[in-house]
Amino acid sequence: MNSVAVIGGGITGLTAAFYLQRRGLRVAVYEASSRIGGAIQSVRQDGYLAECGPNTLLETSPLIGQLLHDAGLTPRRLDPDPRAAARYVVRDRRPLAMPGSVPGFMTTPLFSLAAKFAVLKEPFVAARRDGVEESIAEFVVRRLGREFLDHAIDALVSGIYAGDPARLSVQQAFPKLAQLEATYGSLIRGQILGGRDRKKRGEVAKDRAPKFSFDEGLQVLPDGLGKSLGGAVLLGAAVSRLTKTSAGWRVEYSGRSGTAQAEHQAVVYCGTAFQLAALTIDSPGIPNPAPLSEIRHPPVASLVLGFRREDVAHPCAGFGMLIPGIEKFRILGTIFSSSLFPNRAPAGHVTLTSYIGGERHPELAALPPDELSRITCEDLKVLLGVRGRPTFTHCFFHPKAIPQYNVGYGRYRDLMNDLESSTSGLYLAGHYRDGISLADSIVSGCKVAGRVAQALTPNDGNPPEFSKP
Ligand SMILES: Cc1cc2nc3c(=O)[nH]c(=O)nc-3n(C[C@H](O)[C@H](O)[C@H](O)COP(=O)(O)OP(=O)(O)OC[C@H]3O[C@@H](n4cnc5c(N)ncnc54)[C@H](O)[C@@H]3O)c2cc1C
Repeated sequence: MNSVAVIGGGITGLTAAFYLQRRGLRVAVYEASSRIGGAIQSVRQDGYLAECGPNTLLETSPLIGQLLHDAGLTPRRLDPDPRAAARYVVRDRRPLAMPGSVPGFMTTPLFSLAAKFAVLKEPFVAARRDGVEESIAEFVVRRLGREFLDHAIDALVSGIYAGDPARLSVQQAFPKLAQLEATYGSLIRGQILGGRDRKKRGEVAKDRAPKFSFDEGLQVLPDGLGKSLGGAVLLGAAVSRLTKTSAGWRVEYSGRSGTAQAEHQAVVYCGTAFQLAALTIDSPGIPNPAPLSEIRHPPVASLVLGFRREDVAHPCAGFGMLIPGIEKFRILGTIFSSSLFPNRAPAGHVTLTSYIGGERHPELAALPPDELSRITCEDLKVLLGVRGRPTFTHCFFHPKAIPQYNVGYGRYRDLMNDLESSTSGLYLAGHYRDGISLADSIVSGCKVAGRVAQALTPNDGNPPEFSKP
């Protein structure tokens, strides 16, 4: 029977392995750490549920609902409280609700009249057609004006990438925005006209996609996939070397008693860019992956704090608040976790999840938990009227959180393409290549499983890759 090595037990690797196994292929998932889920980690403690990594999954593709169905996890899906739809952006040290309609936009105190006019004029700004790669900051200033960058996009970019808008590439990090300009000549026109095209492709725009979690947090998804994979998952198995053989690939990894080896027909790498850079890959003519270590991954700390409801003056009725750098706070933003989903805090308490670090304040992320809690409480006191000491604290440090798709990232994607095409049976998938969100990672895992299965079992009667829901 054909066998496939899947390196990485994050959501990409587990999705890929799950669908490969359903196609009748034997898989082995090699995971360096002692747990599955990668960046996803939900911790239930003292009646609180802390998400140490991602908080919500956006259903931007039908493949996501399909995965839940195929893994039998649909009944555990948890949709957010519809009353928690509002998103806040901080301006002049106050969280202000982001407008959800044109009249709302015209009357919001979030932007000056001049900024509103700059946005209304956007359809008349000439599209740039010279093919030069731009940062998201340059792109937004050119199309929507400086104020929109400083008071909205800067905060959004921190919320998604923990990144720097002056460095992130619009073409690499926000390809859909670049496409809207290229196809429709305007973001606003594209937003309206592009809806029809997305519908045809079965896609949903990120700002309209339903977001969700699970009854016990996002960890339910990797745990469910891990359960289906059973003994195919090897924990504490860090792969250090791949060697091309006449039959496929030899995988060298740290086993229970030192280094071990296994033979596979194909290898799917679903780890991180910096760990891929450190892999030794022996195959004639294959390029050196080492330059991938140059990709920036700023550190981020997630700080989950519980408070008594009466100690938080703000109603926290919404998704959370984003904080632009110009406002000079130390936290990047806060998710109102217990407003979003039930059962995230004991009765009479609230859970607030804040992020610290990123490209804005990388030096703060590694502070000791007590210090992080102190500075977060100081910021939350000003922003949400938080008083008193937290009733719950859970801190998690991501030393290398999210790959920054900065200007020039294309050369790393070219290297990834070269790594794949210069040999056979080696596949690369995941957040460092196909988009950084959970949804992107799931789609990446589904697609790579399809490519591998097609290559290894081209004449197997093509069983359906995904079952019907
Ligand atoms: C703080 C934070 C908040 C986020 N919030 C959101 C959010 O709300 N919504 C959203 O959609 N996305 C969010 N993301 C992004 C999302 O979590 C990730 O993009 C996604 O989880 C990536 O999954 P992955 O499987 O590709 O990689 P990872 O989760 O990084 O998993 C890779 C795995 O591969 C293993 N590995 C690597 N190399 C080897 C090797 N050589 N041998 C064996 N194992 C190896 C690693 O140990 C790791 O477990 C967030 C990310 C972070 C860090």
